[in-house]
Amino acid sequence: MVQNFEAKLSEYAHLLVEVGLNVQPGQTPSIESNVEYVPLTRQCIAACYDCGARNVVAYYGDDFATREAFLRADAAVFEEYPSYMKARVDWFLEQKSPRLSFTGSNPELLKGVDPARIQARRKVSGPATKPYFDALTANKLQWCVGAYPTLAWAEKVFPDKKGEQAMDALWDAIFSVCRITGDGKAVERWKEHVAALTRRTKALNDYRFASLHYSNRLGTDLTIRLPERHVWTGASAFTPQGTQFVPNMPTEEIFTAPRWDGVDGRVYAALPLAMDGNLVKDFYLDFKDGRIVDIHAGEGEEYLRRAIDTDEGAHYLGEVALVPYDSPIRNTGILFYNTLFDENASCHLAFGEAYPDCVKGGEDMSEEEQKAAGLNQSMTHVDFMVGTEDLSIVGTTHDGKEIPVFVDGNFAF
Ligand code: ZN
Ligand code: ZN
Repeated sequence: MVQNFEAKLSEYAHLLVEVGLNVQPGQTPSIESNVEYVPLTRQCIAACYDCGARNVVAYYGDDFATREAFLRADAAVFEEYPSYMKARVDWFLEQKSPRLSFTGSNPELLKGVDPARIQARRKVSGPATKPYFDALTANKLQWCVGAYPTLAWAEKVFPDKKGEQAMDALWDAIFSVCRITGDGKAVERWKEHVAALTRRTKALNDYRFASLHYSNRLGTDLTIRLPERHVWTGASAFTPQGTQFVPNMPTEEIFTAPRWDGVDGRVYAALPLAMDGNLVKDFYLDFKDGRIVDIHAGEGEEYLRRAIDTDEGAHYLGEVALVPYDSPIRNTGILFYNTLFDENASCHLAFGEAYPDCVKGGEDMSEEEQKAAGLNQSMTHVDFMVGTEDLSIVGTTHDGKEIPVFVDGNFAF
């Protein structure tokens, strides 16, 4: 049993709605949920009204129904995107509805389904929902992703626990990394946390580093040049109307993009990398002029090679993210097999696609302009953890000043 479960669940709902979405009086939030997430969803609906919502639209998927349809429905069903579903998201866009969603469904939900059906559905759903998801990606609407444990996920994270025991362990872990204790003060704690991340983000942007140098006892010795117009982002985002929100709950990272052709040296992974259920362990990557020129892994090297061979862009880095070693997620020592959590456990880099907003004006640039500005392009984006207890990062400014950014695994400022 999770101690004080009801109080913690309510605290989580208020956190997602008040800090994550930051619902404003008169807004109509939407909640994309699942029949398994009903208890938290109901608490979130109530929390939205507590914030003065005009109306709350919650809708529920069902993993069983989804899987049955993919296995047994008429194949032609997947070649057309239902107009009522398109009308729904178009309406959310029109209403500027803040969007809450949850991660947690069975990672193997579509195992054994004919890939042609999945592909056909993607082909029609992508264009139909593009205006809505483009608006979300560009932060034109508030949005937030939280988590809800399902049995399949919980038993994957805790292989020696079964059933309810695994579920309880995952709930405990989620509450703890979201700074939820049951005392009703998680919202206050998160406001402080977001303010601290914002202060560091501003400091990094003020330094306008030309490059960062990483080193530690594992043998990491890596120089990363940053794009001239790079922007560090952390924790929160703002809508054009100026409403602050926190898209990922939890979040610990501050990130930007490296210059795709500006990475040199060797970096060692600090944690195993989970790729489609396979683990890559004890690996390093060597870079020359940005390109990965050599890799070595103690275990699972073939999965890493395959990922890097996705396309030419996957041979270059697209993200530099700073997370203190002393972060709640790393302190649990748990591998969540879920990016929302795992990428907040440690300083990380990603090979593949860079986020356009990591360069000033990047969202309005063509692909060629983005590349010229330093942003990498790829079909993939894979985070791997590099932060150790003794990680040192030194920034060099354009006039050659060296500033400690990380000392002994944690922020120097
Ligand atoms: Zn990241
Ligand atoms: Zn990433």
